[in-house]
Amino acid sequence: MATNAVRVVHTVSEVGTAVAAWRAAGDTIAFAPTMGNLHAGHLSLAALGAEAARRVVMSIFVNPTQFGPAEDFAAYPRTLAADQALISAAGNCDLLFVPAAGEIYPFGAAEAVRLQLPVLSRELCGASRPGHFDGVATVVCRLLNIVTPNVLFLGQKDYQQFVLMQHMIADLHMPVELRMGPTLREPDGLAMSSRNRYLDARERQQAPALHRALARVRDHLRAGERDFARLITAARAELEGAGFKPEYVELRRQDDLRTANPEGDEPRIVLGAAQLGRARLIDNLFV
Ligand code: AMP
Repeated sequence: MATNAVRVVHTVSEVGTAVAAWRAAGDTIAFAPTMGNLHAGHLSLAALGAEAARRVVMSIFVNPTQFGPAEDFAAYPRTLAADQALISAAGNCDLLFVPAAGEIYPFGAAEAVRLQLPVLSRELCGASRPGHFDGVATVVCRLLNIVTPNVLFLGQKDYQQFVLMQHMIADLHMPVELRMGPTLREPDGLAMSSRNRYLDARERQQAPALHRALARVRDHLRAGERDFARLITAARAELEGAGFKPEYVELRRQDDLRTANPEGDEPRIVLGAAQLGRARLIDNLFV
């Protein structure tokens, strides 16, 4: 089946022109930012966007300010042609914004205004990735100013990112509605991720153990188990047994990611991050 190629623009001014025309026609806009190397999880956010608004914008930008010096910024997969083909075939994105770093950071990294998020940004994934979430906020704020969407779609897979962006949007009075898309998974449970391509064949076989370990914690909690420490120790052991180096497994309150109280009955979430070979994998499940 022939598909229309998605319109790709590289500059802030081209986005501005497209958005102004849509606004003049009364169209609403949904936005799903990504770092590219797209998979069905990314495309699902565009599909949700198409249900929520008349126009859908996606962006592909491997944001340098959210990578630490020892992280995979240079190695991060850049697959623009394949990404464009996937978006075009899916057929629900009106504009793909693919800026160079100079468009997003016109004064360069050294002169960039940076956001600083509160303490949650230094916990969980932030503990091993100092400055990561400040970098995410720094780029998401710019992208929202450029695209001016009515609705922003982010994935549950990066739940800490979602909660922090929710906080940023509320705290800065940003005029956008934030919505979450569910985590899309491979048939064996592994959460789809651009970083899955770092896994070799053997590691790929082991990788679903992260989802399995978190699912076991969730199931025990649902069955009434309240010894959080025991559940977390067992999950870490399960990950080590599957060849992972666990970074954290934690139970938190779902709405704000504060420490969960074993005696309470608030909705919870179990989150984990672990290294498997070259890949750092994350996942989470609502309890
Ligand atoms: P990334 O390109 O990894 O920065 O992700 C871009 C957006 O896609 C973020 O909002 C992610 O949370 C979301 N995302 C990543 N993986 C998945 C997935 N497996 N299912 C749904 N959304 C995802």
